[in-house]
Amino acid sequence: MSNSNSEVGLSAKQKAHKAKMQKHKKKVDAHIAAAQKERGLALLLTGNGKGKTSSAFGMVIRALGYQQKVGIVQFIKGIQECGEANFIQKHCPTVDLYQMGTGFTWNTQDMEADCLAAEKTWVHAERLLSDEQYDLVVLDELTYMLGYKYLDKDKVITAIENRPVEQSVVVTGRGGGSKLRSIMDTISDVKDVRHAYRDGYKARKGIDY
Ligand code: ATP
Ligand code: MG
Repeated sequence: MSNSNSEVGLSAKQKAHKAKMQKHKKKVDAHIAAAQKERGLALLLTGNGKGKTSSAFGMVIRALGYQQKVGIVQFIKGIQECGEANFIQKHCPTVDLYQMGTGFTWNTQDMEADCLAAEKTWVHAERLLSDEQYDLVVLDELTYMLGYKYLDKDKVITAIENRPVEQSVVVTGRGGGSKLRSIMDTISDVKDVRHAYRDGYKARKGIDY
């Protein structure tokens, strides 16, 4: 009788591959069995490489695929058009999206106005972080608000830590500081290996914004 475990007819190379995969599966299964904790997660997508915001919006799509409730607060953003916000505003009426609407700090060059805008934007973030209806909260480019001291670090960290137990939060942006890192469950440091911009290519619709 033939079964899927049979090695009859397999070449030495195929047998070696099968043995290797069986060993690997044992390891994977053991890791899966060991991970039994369940609650909302805090994720930090950081680093100099491209892919932080777009990854966060990838998770937004995942969550929406399960009819989960999503809230997004975008610090800095809102001046320049971007495809993900266009899409959400047009096609995702259940998503709560708020944009700070100031643009980059090196363009505004006005610390007082940036601080006020950051505080006003933080009110929305705090509301989402204290509402257990939200399964996923994205705080896009939040780290810069901490880096420039536009927002109080402790206040932000406390709100993230005290969010509803089933709620996940994704923070994006370079830096953010060791205290923020210490409360995150998953941290991805996106490495900048190469960026077309440095070779003179213009930012591209649908790719960069
Ligand atoms: P994305 O929104 O594409 O996922 P990101 O969130 O990782 O990028 P940000 O620092 O928020 O990166 O930058 C937003 C914009 O700047 C995007 O248009 C992106 O392509 C561009 N960008 C990202 N990384 C770099 C880099 N290393 N050099 C130049 N431009 C970059
Ligand atoms: Mg970004």
